[in-house]
Amino acid sequence: MESNNWYAVGTQAGINCLNCNSSIVEVGYTHTDTGVCPYCKTPCIFYGIGKDNVIQVIPDYAPDSFRKFISWVQTDLSEMEFLFLIGAIKRIGRDLPVAQNPPD
Ligand SMILES: [Zn+2]
Repeated sequence: MESNNWYAVGTQAGINCLNCNSSIVEVGYTHTDTGVCPYCKTPCIFYGIGKDNVIQVIPDYAPDSFRKFISWVQTDLSEMEFLFLIGAIKRIGRDLPVAQNPPD
């Protein structure tokens, strides 16, 4: 299944589960391993990015390319390498001379 609704964003103070909309608090540090929502038990991954941002990704809903990315991260990268990679991609995006919306 491919959909634009394959991730949710929030903060450590609360992120609403993409699947059940329950508010999940204190996700903590980045977990690149697949876990579950504590309420609906949907398999998902919580990425803590920066000081307070949290991203929830539900692999079953994600595009094939992102599922491959998840698998590669889980197989080949440490959590520190993952965080470095995300920081590098954010810097590149910030430095692009012409702002663009990413393809869906
Ligand atoms: Zn849930």
